[in-house]
Formats: sequence, structure tokens, C-alpha cells
Amino acid sequence: MAHDGFDLPPREAMEFDVVVVGAGPAGLAAAIRLKQLAAEAGRELSVVVLEKGSEVGAHILSGAVIDPRGLNRLIPDWKAKGAPVATSVREDRFLVLGPAGKLRLPGFMMPPLMSNHGNYIASLGALCRWLGEEALRLGVEIYPGFAAAEVLYDQAGAVVGVATGDMGLARNGRPKDTFVRGMELKGKYTLIAEGARGSLAKQLIETFRLDRDRCPQKYGIGLKELWQVAPEKHEPGLVQHTFGWPLDNRTGGGSFMYHYGARLVAVGFVVHLDYENPYLSPYDEFQRFKTHPAVRTVLEGGSRIAYGARALTEGGWQSIPKLTFPGGALLGCAAGFMNVPRIKGSHNAMLSGIHAAEAAFAAISAGRAHDRLEAYEKAVREGEIARDLRPVRNAKPLWSRFGTLAGVVLGGIDMWLNTLIPNVGLGVTLAHRKVDYEGLKTTASARPIAYPKPDGVLTFDKLTSVSFSQTSHEEDQPVHLKLADPNIPVAINLPEFDEPAQRYCPAGVYEIVADRDGKPRFQINAQNCVHCKTCDIKDPSQNITWVPPEGGGGPNYAEM
Ligand SMILES: Cc1cc2nc3c(=O)[nH]c(=O)nc-3n(C[C@H](O)[C@H](O)[C@H](O)COP(=O)(O)OP(=O)(O)OC[C@H]3O[C@@H](n4cnc5c(N)ncnc54)[C@H](O)[C@@H]3O)c2cc1C
Ligand code: SF4
Repeated sequence: MAHDGFDLPPREAMEFDVVVVGAGPAGLAAAIRLKQLAAEAGRELSVVVLEKGSEVGAHILSGAVIDPRGLNRLIPDWKAKGAPVATSVREDRFLVLGPAGKLRLPGFMMPPLMSNHGNYIASLGALCRWLGEEALRLGVEIYPGFAAAEVLYDQAGAVVGVATGDMGLARNGRPKDTFVRGMELKGKYTLIAEGARGSLAKQLIETFRLDRDRCPQKYGIGLKELWQVAPEKHEPGLVQHTFGWPLDNRTGGGSFMYHYGARLVAVGFVVHLDYENPYLSPYDEFQRFKTHPAVRTVLEGGSRIAYGARALTEGGWQSIPKLTFPGGALLGCAAGFMNVPRIKGSHNAMLSGIHAAEAAFAAISAGRAHDRLEAYEKAVREGEIARDLRPVRNAKPLWSRFGTLAGVVLGGIDMWLNTLIPNVGLGVTLAHRKVDYEGLKTTASARPIAYPKPDGVLTFDKLTSVSFSQTSHEEDQPVHLKLADPNIPVAINLPEFDEPAQRYCPAGVYEIVADRDGKPRFQINAQNCVHCKTCDIKDPSQNITWVPPEGGGGPNYAEM
């Protein structure tokens, strides 16, 4: 077979009952549930999970306050089995920040669905590692370090599996001595659980037009640091959310700060990717946020342990695409089951994995293969996930239309109405009007933002931060950030938007540098990429496509 002008050997194929792409909460829940069902029925069922991270959990980044309803359903005795989910939420704090001050919202104003009573603070990465062990114990085959790079179709157009990427290709696409051809993993059903803006999910949504008649998906970028704080600053079980400063009223977003474990504080900042100002840098907003007295006082005297970033879905109920295609389905945040005002998606990710597994198992048991798992779609649209997402469906559109302060108040009223008269609320479902990248203004109509210099103690420069994500990629490999037109960054994005990739990328991957003749050149430092997917979403020219690099590359998050 020819590849960039070189002949490559054919791929070997392996057959399974179910192929799962992604070892996050959605994919692992699906794999575990499939094996549980097979064990209950006393039958054999082969399940494989592919994970692009070097190990399960290496690419997982979340808050995380975990609503345990998915875990309860999947492994009811998870506590007795020692799941790493130990800190119960003790207190919820909501603050509106100004440049120096803060206003605490009284708890009684918050709609009950916003309460974290009964939830836990934990590392989602650690939970996924534990789920991975459970899955292995049940006989699931997990292949970390292997990215699913291509969807495989049969002649009728149904999905029959995926192929892993080739390993050992040089930057120019030529096979090196270390070259290993990718494998084909074929299944009766293929479950796509890649998380927000999955690269295969994106193709499948387009191929099968799964988003037809749906609102566009909306996204945010979440940046997170893990700190170990001084003992007197640690309040285990405290969950603090803020909105307001340093973002202006037209820019959606907010922060989280969760105290848990051994003096750990997860501090993070989310910026909605429909922001307008091309000079905005989500990374620098996060650094600036940490200088607020409400945050600084907690972190001072502590040390930063880890850094990372990841996109999250924000479109909610009205943006969920059709979930099934012939031969498989979209699970978790690859479909977009994130509850935006609650900043929670892991419970729905697990529930979707359970529903998909149950539908796939019933179908396989009935002798079916490569058709649509309609029972899965029905379970999501009529079950617990719908009951979680429908009541909050207007929060994000209200925020986008009316700005943060009015949007949060109106969203709160809508959520209260939904609480008092279930499934009614404002009585309408507000649409998302724009795809995120369309919101970006040109520099001619935007105000430059001057960010303070990092102090190296509380605030840091990007490259130092990236070193705290333990990111590594084989350097001599094809660039995994594909430009449809290499001229666009300098010819269009630079004059119109001051090439915003320099600022929205949280890992310093994109730079405009001067060539020897002084001309601007777009440089891609692909080895720094933390796989957040923001460039794929926010590039105003939609010129960048993120594809999986060689398996095992990317961040190596320990406890994110
Ligand atoms: C900053 C931030 C804070 C959050 N806070 C919370 C919170 O407090 N509580 C909460 O419940 N939720 C929270 N969420 C949301 C939560 O993390 C997601 O809803 C959840 O992780 C979705 O699970 P998933 O399994 O669908 O996807 P993911 O967790 O993203 O997992 C997907 C997995 O698939 C792998 N993968 C992707 N593509 C491929 C491929 N092609 N081949 C092989 N492997 C692949 C990835 O490496 C990853 O391991 C937060 C998210 C962010 C970004
Ligand atoms: S290159 Fe893209 S995916 Fe990688 S870190 Fe930067 S914005 Fe995120």
C-alpha cells in the first residue's frame, strides 16, 4: 500500500466482539459493563480498548468533583473495592470575583441541582487507572500507547472497526528502522469514547451527518494545576467555584478549586471558546486569576505539582448529535454529555458507557452486527442522562446572549423553574447561534490585553508549565497538527487576528517567528502538544486538524 509515496506492508487484522476507542470513564465503563453482562450470561465476549496515552489515565484531565451515580451503577461496591475516591464534599462556595474583592453567593440562592452534597473530590485520572485494572481483571484487553487513527468501513458503509496509527515514521513520512505498521481491530460494534472533540468522532459526525438538525457543539478550554498546599490552608472537602474577574462580562468562564487528598488542591480555570477578543490568552487569564486574594492566600507557601489543559464540551442537550451510526456509537464527551453549570461530565460518561454496553450486548446476543444501536440512543434520550441535561439546557445560551452576570442570574432562574416544575423551566430550548470560532473578532475591533509577567512562584510561563505536564513525543514523526493550507496562518490569521493560535494554545505549540529574511513564519512545536484540541476548535479559518500522533505521545498526567 502506498503512503506519502512509500510502499507500506498491508496491515494485520484482529477480530473482537466490541472495539472501544478511549480509556476514559465512558470507554472503561462500556468495557466493564460488557464483560459483566457476558459473565452474567455465562458466555464469551471479546472486548478491546485502545488508549493513545502511554498508560490508562495519562491523558485524563478533569476537576474533579465526581457525582457517583455512574460509578454506583457500574460497580456498586466501589468503596469496599478501594476505588481512589475518598474525599466527600463538605462545603460548596460560589464567589463572584472583582479585581480585588469577592462576593459570596448565599447557598439558598443556588438551584438544588448545583449542590455537591453526596459528591466526591478525586483525580479522574486515578479513578480511570483503577477502572482499567477492574476491566483487565474481567478480561478486557487494553492497549495503551495505541491511537486509533482511522475508521474502517465495509462495502455497505458500516463501521467495522478502527486501525491504529503506524509507528516509526519520520517527519517526512518515510518509514524509519523502528517502523511498525498499524493494526486493524475489527468488531461487531465500535464504541467511540475519545472525549471532547474526538478526532474519529469528528469524522464520523461528518460522514454520517450525525449533527444534522442539531445546534453546533460548543466548547470551553479548561486549564488545571495541581498544588500541594500548606497544612493550615487545606480544607478537605471544600469545593469553590468563581466567575467574574479576570474575565470581562462578555467572556464566559470561571474557576474551580477543590481541596482533597494529601494536602492537594486542584485549581483550574475554564474559558468558553466562543470568546471574541483575539488577544485573549486563556492560559494568561488563568495565571492572572491565581493572583486574586481569594486564590493566592490558599496557594502561597505551597508547591505546584502538575499542569495540563483539555477542551470540554459545553453545548449540552441541544448539541448532542445522533449517537449511533451503522456499526457503532458515540459515548461520553465525544457526544457531549457535559452538564455545563455543574461542570460535570464524568457521571454521564459512565452512564453512557453502561447504556451502550447494554445495547451492544443485547444486539450481539441476538446475532446482530454492524447496525445501529437504537436502544442506546433511546436509553440516553429518555433516561438519567436526559434528566440531568434537559433542566440545564438554557444555561449556556443565556450566558452567551446576555453576558456573564445577567446570564448566570437568568440561568439560575431557569434552573429553579425546572426544579419547581420539572422539564418546563422557561418553556423553550434556546439554540446556540454560532460555532465557537465564528465568534472571534478581528484585531481591528478588539482591545489588546497586557498580561502581567509571571513571578515563577505563583504564576508561570507556558513552557515551564508544559514541563509540569510531563509531555513527550517522538520528535522525528509527521506533524500531527495538519494545516489544510500552510499559507493561511501568515496570509490571513496574522493580519486579521494577530494569529490567535499563539495565545489560545495552552502549550506554546504555535509561534510566529521571523525568518532569516525577516518575514513572519508560522512555527509548530508539535512536541509540546498536550492534546487539548483547542486549535482544532478555535482556529478562525478552520485550517488546523488535530490527528493522533504516534501512540504513547502526549502528556503523562499522574493524578489529573
Ligand atoms: C478542566 C476540566 C474540569 C472538569 N471537571 C469535572 C468535574 O469536576 N467533574 C466531572 O464529572 N467532570 C468534569 N469534567 C468533565 C469530565 O472530565 C469529562 O466529562 C469526562 O472526562 C468525559 O469522559 P470521556 O470518557 O468521555 O472522555 P475522556 O475523559 O476525555 O477520555 C477519553 C480517552 O480517550 C483517549 N483517546 C482519545 N482519542 C483517542 C484515539 N483516537 N485513540 C485512542 N485513544 C483515544 C484519550 O487519551 C482519553 O484517555 C471536567 C473537564 C475538564 C476539561
Ligand atoms: S496544539 Fe492544539 S491540541 Fe495541542 S496543546 Fe496546542 S491547542 Fe491544544
